[in-house]
Amino acid sequence: MKDNEAPSEAARSALVCPECASPASLREVHPPWPVRRRRLVQFALLLIALGYVVWRNVEAWPVLPTPTVRASVPYFADFPSHRYTRPEIERYATGKLSDGRLIGDLYNADVFSSFELGATFVPPSGSATDFRRYGWPTMIVLYRYDAEYDDAYAKTNASARPSSLRNGWWGWTYIFKRIDATGRRETFMFSSKGLAGGPLMLIAAWGVGRLLRWLVFVLRIASRDRPRKRDRLAHRAPVLCVVACAIGVTIASLRPRIDPGYAFPSTLNPAWSNTGVTAADVAQLAEKPMGEAILAQAILDATSGVASTPGTYLAFGWRSEIGTIHTYESGGWPASLVHKSVGEQQDFEASGRPEISLKFRRASVAAVVRWSGTRERNARYSVSFHSAASLALGLCAVWIATGLGAWLVGWTVRRRTAQRLARGWCVQCGYNLSGLGGQRRGLDSRVNR
Ligand SMILES: [Zn+2]
Repeated sequence: MKDNEAPSEAARSALVCPECASPASLREVHPPWPVRRRRLVQFALLLIALGYVVWRNVEAWPVLPTPTVRASVPYFADFPSHRYTRPEIERYATGKLSDGRLIGDLYNADVFSSFELGATFVPPSGSATDFRRYGWPTMIVLYRYDAEYDDAYAKTNASARPSSLRNGWWGWTYIFKRIDATGRRETFMFSSKGLAGGPLMLIAAWGVGRLLRWLVFVLRIASRDRPRKRDRLAHRAPVLCVVACAIGVTIASLRPRIDPGYAFPSTLNPAWSNTGVTAADVAQLAEKPMGEAILAQAILDATSGVASTPGTYLAFGWRSEIGTIHTYESGGWPASLVHKSVGEQQDFEASGRPEISLKFRRASVAAVVRWSGTRERNARYSVSFHSAASLALGLCAVWIATGLGAWLVGWTVRRRTAQRLARGWCVQCGYNLSGLGGQRRGLDSRVNR
């Protein structure tokens, strides 16, 4: 046998395509370099896309608007999230009630720590704003309700004036306003940017599935080729993860999230009484065991002169004698990716190191920088989840499209090779080798043997 095979090797290498000089025995072609260097091409295009995003962001950053200056900050009249009567505050003061609700309702991390708490008791009539949201992980649809109520807590006898703003697209958001059946002004908002969150979750689920599959094979929990049930399940891990994620995202997105929103009394200028408690004091009292009772007693002492007839409820506000300067910027690409707001008390001078903290909110993450001393300054840099999600999805799309493109080129080459082989053509250039066909088929059968 060995003696018979030796000349055929020589004969095979002797047969070449007259067009491109490839050996006629060639059964495969080298894929083009974008296919072989698929990862490199993906990284290169991702870098170009990232460069474009950075350039657009630098270009899109707006000029500073004129800062708003307030000579001094008055009380902003607010209703706490829950209604409190004077007898209830008395129960907090004696310690009969201590559930942390009162101090939680009054605490406000956004005001300067030197701001003083004012309190009063007023009838419950006032304005309230409530929200109902759909969409997860990013909000897609928002319903906002604004109205004046006889009772801002019970939401009785609503009335609202229609909005003068036009309905339609405002940037990436579609807005439709109307007065609803109960008399409230309903604002429907559809955020097209919010649609990016779901697909991003699916891409992440696909990645998690692939990681799980790899782990299961590496830890030999399942095998790559043995046809047991668990092996087949392991193979399908990415698809199963995507399906589970799609179901989860759909259920979470359809479930409405109702927020209490905020309310303030219609008595815009009530007889405020200063409690002598600052925002910093409230933060400290929240940590103490009897802190809530001390805060309740301060409210009672301050409002002892206020007539607290039945049907009046606690309202509160923050006040400062020192003026503040506010600056606000919003910009980036896609639109309003980054927000920057700075609040500075007049005659602020930097002393000591600022305190930096991260704040996660419903629709953004913010880095808050606080300087303190005799005067205060807060700066907040926040990134909108909606804009960040649409940006991340765009970058994922660049990566996936490049990968799919390379795969498609590879698939086309393989299919063409198979067709040329079947027709007896040169796999490299497609030259018809049928004149050499007989020998070639013979060679092929020998190679396959
Ligand atoms: Zn050829």
